[in-house]
This record gives sequence, structure tokens and C-alpha cells, in this order.
Amino acid sequence: MSSPAPELPRALRERAEASISQLRAAVGEYKNVCYANSLGSESVVLTDLIWESVPEIEIFSIDTGRLYPETYDLIERVQNRYGRALRLYYPEATDLEDWVAQNGINGFRDGVDQRHGCCGIRKVAPFRRAVAGHGAWVTGIRRQQSASRAMAAPVEWDSEYGLHKVSPLLDWSEQEIWDYIRKKRLPYNSLHDSGFPSIGCAPCTRAVQPGEDERSGRWWWERPDSRECGLHPRRKAAALAVAGSGPK
Ligand code: SF4
Repeated sequence: MSSPAPELPRALRERAEASISQLRAAVGEYKNVCYANSLGSESVVLTDLIWESVPEIEIFSIDTGRLYPETYDLIERVQNRYGRALRLYYPEATDLEDWVAQNGINGFRDGVDQRHGCCGIRKVAPFRRAVAGHGAWVTGIRRQQSASRAMAAPVEWDSEYGLHKVSPLLDWSEQEIWDYIRKKRLPYNSLHDSGFPSIGCAPCTRAVQPGEDERSGRWWWERPDSRECGLHPRRKAAALAVAGSGPK
């Protein structure tokens, strides 16, 4: 269960209340709202907001099979804190077996098409099953994370998956995310203390240097305009704007 936490500073409390209002509005507007928990720093904030204030939102995560051990530890610590279970979705075994047989265990490094193929089986297909039958999904993206995400709206129609996409943390700064985590003593992925601002699959995520774009540790061998996993397709203009700079 939640441990006692000191009172949040007023600005941060108002930030959290605005996000909770947005989540409640989504529950009132759409049938079956779910939250796709990506197990990063924003995710522990959103999980806290949802399980403490809007518990009717179902929370799920995708276990790609290639996550860091620290990420599995985080899943257990989050579940223990709230006494609730994250629903985990997995890749279809036969699809994955066929893909690995054809491309190799680390074949995602051989080209953008292969990488998208791996993300498609390990992330996108389980995600599609997870959101089926829901009216909206919640994401923890923030405007500061990339030029593409800077253009996002709080609620958008997600034509790829056929439901609304709600982003209640869009205006939070990274500092606010960490202030909330520390004030409320939330469990977080220990890799964040080793230079990982964004954490995905182990072979496709690395630490970044101070001052580098926070998504530059993801798929670093690719051009910046291809570095999304398929759950948050890049907007064309933003993809052009970010090409040549660094990028989750
Ligand atoms: S992030 Fe890497 S290992 Fe994970 S699904 Fe995508 S390509 Fe595969």
C-alpha cells in the first residue's frame, strides 16, 4: 500500500489535479479507458494518479521479452506498493519464433525494416490486442520529449488503432515528474540513476550524456526520423524538424 508522503508543493499539486481532471473527463467521455504503462518515469507518476484517484482506468504493460531486469523489478515494486496487478501482454509466440528464425535473435539491428518488424511483433501487436474494445488509451508522453511530441494535443483521434488517445502529462516538465516521484516516494526504475532518461528494450536503449536529447538513447544507430516504436507515429513535419538533431 502507499507509504505516507509529505504534502506536494502547490504548483505540483495543481499540475497533478489538472491531469486527474483530464483523466476523469476521459472516463466520463469514453467507454473503457485504458492506460498503456511504458514503465518509465512518467509511468510511475501516471500509475499513481490513476490508482490513487481514477482507479476505473485499466493499466497494462507490454512485456516484449527483451526488457531490462531492473524493469521487471519495477513491475513487482509497483504492484507491491498499490496491492494491484498490472495486466501484462506478450507477443504471439509463433509470430515471434518465425521472425527470429528468419532474422536472427538480434536481427532488429540489420535495418529500419527489421527493427520495425521486431517492434511490430513484440510491441505493436500486443498493444493492438490490449486496446481492442476500448474507447480511449492514456499515454504518458510530454511535449518536452521530442519535436514530434511537442505538436501533440491533449486528446487526439488515433486513426492507427481506432480510439482516442489521451495525454494528461503533456505539459509536465521532467523536473516536475521527478519532483512528484521524490515527494511521493514512488518506486522507479533504478536505471534512471545511471543516465537512462527513457527505458525500453535492453538491446535498444542506452544511457545518454548530460545535455543530450532524452530520446537519443533509443535506436541510436538509426536516423532520428525513424526512432519511434509504432505506438506514437511521428508527425511528418516534426519528423523533418527533428532530423539532424538527436531524439524514446
Ligand atoms: S525496441 Fe528493440 S528489441 Fe524491443 S521490440 Fe523494438 S526492435 Fe525489438
